[in-house]
Amino acid sequence: MPVTDPIPAASETPAHFSPDKSLISLLGLEKADLQAALAELGLPKFRAGQIWRWVFRHGLSDFNEMTDLAKPLRPLLASHFHADRPLVSRRQQSVDGTIKWLVRLADGQEAETVYIPDRDRGTLCISSQVGCTLNCSFCHTGTQRLVRNLAAEEIVGQIMLAMDELGDWPAGKENRRLTNIVLMGMGEPLYNYEQVAKAMKIIMSGEGVGLSRRRITLSTSGIVPEMERCGAELGVNLAISLHAVRDGLRDELVPINRKYNLAQLLEAVRGWPGLSNARRVTWEYVMLKGVNDSEQDARALVKLIAGIPSKINLIPFNPWPGSGYETSAAEQIEKFAQIVMKAGYASPVRTPRGRDILAACGQLKSDSVRLRKSQQVTVAGWQG
Ligand code: SAH
Ligand code: SF4
Repeated sequence: MPVTDPIPAASETPAHFSPDKSLISLLGLEKADLQAALAELGLPKFRAGQIWRWVFRHGLSDFNEMTDLAKPLRPLLASHFHADRPLVSRRQQSVDGTIKWLVRLADGQEAETVYIPDRDRGTLCISSQVGCTLNCSFCHTGTQRLVRNLAAEEIVGQIMLAMDELGDWPAGKENRRLTNIVLMGMGEPLYNYEQVAKAMKIIMSGEGVGLSRRRITLSTSGIVPEMERCGAELGVNLAISLHAVRDGLRDELVPINRKYNLAQLLEAVRGWPGLSNARRVTWEYVMLKGVNDSEQDARALVKLIAGIPSKINLIPFNPWPGSGYETSAAEQIEKFAQIVMKAGYASPVRTPRGRDILAACGQLKSDSVRLRKSQQVTVAGWQG
């Protein structure tokens, strides 16, 4: 049975939550942005460094606790800035230790964040958008009616919130529970590149949380034009939602393929900086019964990615009502995996985690919104 903490009533506003939208969130400011904002108040640059460290290294949000800030300065800062986390409207913990937070954003919309503890690591799966415009046929997130980009502060806020709950301050301490971040929650990160990039730069900064780019993985369905820029600017690890090895089938499963086909995608992946056996691309491949799980598909997969330093993640499909798909049989996944392993790729089947709390990919926010394809509304212009 999943353990679910009591759901706080909407009126139960935590002390650290500020509904005052006129305040600027420090969570979305790179240090240079903060310096500029402080300069407008007539404050010197070094103050930005002090505030930055309190917020991003020590996790503080109360200016009164920032002891090296002169006392009269504290109310001034508090009247312009805040470092509040998003509200948690629901928190669930799985029997396997996975934690899922449904976070409520300032405009009342919701996104999800999932923490997955493992023997050697603790991975936080964060969202980059509310919903997703891309409508991959097997993905529940793609069926959500409401879609908007998350602001950098809302992306960073998910990480800060998790660090608060996991007791991970000061950042970088030994035995920290959050060691890795994957952008594999709701949304297509490369359709919100500016805000995602800003958020990752804030989290990677050595003066703050200081998470290495090697511990961050961005998953994309293949927004080819943004990939080059993202690789060069952020240098994080890359995961590709492949799911099909032929254009016809991929057009159906991952419709962005009609715009950027497999050949273009493969070329963009080959151009990702720093690929080596120590830094491989992860190919995500959802196992759909009778759709993409044949042995012929497995052979075509290894042929397709030959020569690219790669890891393959075979993801058992997480069913949701009305999806029209079924998870491949265990024996079929095994046959597929054998072919992949014989080609030199190790342990490719991803064990589903947090299934009892619907924390797995493609099921995010599943309790909140459930819409069929015919009811979907896409924000015009997003798909270019
Ligand atoms: N939009 C990005 C990142 C979020 S999805 C992307 O598509 O890469 C994270 C992963 O979960 C993707 O590989 C996605 O294809 C996969 N996924 C989506 N729905 C799923 C489902 N129902 N079962 C298993 N995996 C799913
Ligand atoms: Fe969007 Fe990724 Fe889901 Fe496709 S798989 S609809 S790109 S979140």
